Amino acid sequence: MPRNIQKAYLQGTRSADGKPGKKYWQNHGKYDMSISVNPQNKLVNGTETILYTNHSPDTLKSVTIRFVNNVHKPEAPRSVLADPDFLTTGLNISSFTVNGAKLEVDSKKWGTTGDVKLKAPLLPGQAATFAISWSYPLSKQSGREGQIDSTTFFVAYAYPRISVYDDYNGWDLIPHNGRNEFYNDFNDYTLAVKAPKNYVVWATGDLTNPDEVLQPAFAERLKKSYLSEEVSHIATFDEMKKGIVTQQKEWNTWKFMATNIVDVTFSLSNHYAWDGGSVLVDKKTGRRTSVQAAYGENAKDFPHAVDWTKQALFWFSNNLPGVPYPFSKMTAVQGFADMEYPMMVNDTPTPDLPFSQFVMNHEIAHTYFPFYMGINETRYAYMDEGWATTLEYFIGQQQVGKEKADSLYKTFRVKRWISDPSTEQDQPVISLSTQVSGVGYGNNAYVKPSLSYLALKDMLGDEAFLKALHLYMDRWNGKHPIPWDFFNSINDATGMDLNWYWNNWFFTNNYIDLAIEKVSIKGSKYTLDVKNIGGFAVPFNALITYADGTKQSLHQTAAVWKNNQKQTSVQISATGKIATIVLDGGIFMDAKPANNNWSN
Ligand SMILES: [Zn+2]
Repeated sequence: MPRNIQKAYLQGTRSADGKPGKKYWQNHGKYDMSISVNPQNKLVNGTETILYTNHSPDTLKSVTIRFVNNVHKPEAPRSVLADPDFLTTGLNISSFTVNGAKLEVDSKKWGTTGDVKLKAPLLPGQAATFAISWSYPLSKQSGREGQIDSTTFFVAYAYPRISVYDDYNGWDLIPHNGRNEFYNDFNDYTLAVKAPKNYVVWATGDLTNPDEVLQPAFAERLKKSYLSEEVSHIATFDEMKKGIVTQQKEWNTWKFMATNIVDVTFSLSNHYAWDGGSVLVDKKTGRRTSVQAAYGENAKDFPHAVDWTKQALFWFSNNLPGVPYPFSKMTAVQGFADMEYPMMVNDTPTPDLPFSQFVMNHEIAHTYFPFYMGINETRYAYMDEGWATTLEYFIGQQQVGKEKADSLYKTFRVKRWISDPSTEQDQPVISLSTQVSGVGYGNNAYVKPSLSYLALKDMLGDEAFLKALHLYMDRWNGKHPIPWDFFNSINDATGMDLNWYWNNWFFTNNYIDLAIEKVSIKGSKYTLDVKNIGGFAVPFNALITYADGTKQSLHQTAAVWKNNQKQTSVQISATGKIATIVLDGGIFMDAKPANNNWSN
């Protein structure tokens, strides 16, 4: 455990039993924002007030402002080479006040974070009101945000926000490099988006003024879709072209509201079609979630987006994680990101419909991790990507069958890691995500933690696994868990000391390679000695084929590695003469399958 994390446990903001500590705190912002997007010059202009409350025991003499889109500045450090169409001049702050007093802020000198020294320190328990006016250009190249086409924009990370100040690290100062992901406080937002007439705006949060921005017939369709099981067109391509969808004021102001959420994002277009429907996400309370999609004429997959999203929200709510979808809305927007945002996803269209649905499932699964759980993705990407990868695999089993889901998981997730012996691939998962690059980042974030969760489920059994997962999720929903809070919570929920298991999967350079060491025979008793060369505590099947052709499979869970992580033995009471034995890990693909066979 790193020293700063040890300190958090010692000081009681976190607790060894996995609960948030008795002294746990997190800071909070109440954001009231008005943002306009000008399609002519592609400029975003905004004003906001942030009522920021310091719940920490510390006196804050400065605040760190974060503006992720400064990654577009030519001088910004980035994880990859930038296309000229990616580059912009970044953020320009024209006014910055704290409690009404003006501060001189030179945002031109900022990277993706900037420090602002306060005139009066913000004491523990105190709140201050920040008022900021800003502008920035939308980049021509669209990734996680930017111009999707000349009149369709995905406007994410669009406002200067107060960076997270937390109990184990203080101010989050890690620069955004285009690859790493995010870490935000749970805030409350009111968002007003000003867009020219004939532009429809989709955003995180509830649209509170549909009648002010839509023509009556379209406002009616939208409201009807909130209660309807059916997927319907709220606005067709044709209606968008005719300019009959929105109110005809020069500019419309679309108002949205979302509370206890880590970010708000929006998109606008003057030609995308708009579909809607809804799905029952909580059977106990009868709560429904609005499901919407926005897409262009070329997309083959997006006409299915509302239906697919409904399926995903229903499945995740009722199966795994089995927690009702926590928000009132989900909108899928056609773009280029393959990225999640609270209540929104932005996906690249593909003509391969099953693959499109697979990606959509993944992005929607992120609702739980990082958004429901407030994960620090920047440092611990595996705390959300590992779960999204696991959830995508299970919903896939239901949608395309286990065999196909297994094959997709193997080819898309496991193979590239396990078949590449380079050092980068086998860095410990616990490594800070900011300090592993290239292939090491991806496989540390996605496949390795996912396999650890799958092996855990296999070892604990479905019921105990779900109970433990729910305990962790209940405790840390709306808060900021770190890896040790997860480990401790699962230990606590199962009543087991699984530290050997966490150590094995998260703190080592292990990979997967089992081998049959030897087979000893005493009459009908066979002893199969298995060597764990790669080291990961994986489950496996001993597949036995008898001389007469009958087959038998003996499943071993990861528990077999508890006492000796290098070697285990499987006792077989043979029902005849055994001809061959094969070690089969299924999706736990072996780096060297050649040493997994024995024949008599
Ligand atoms: Zn993901």
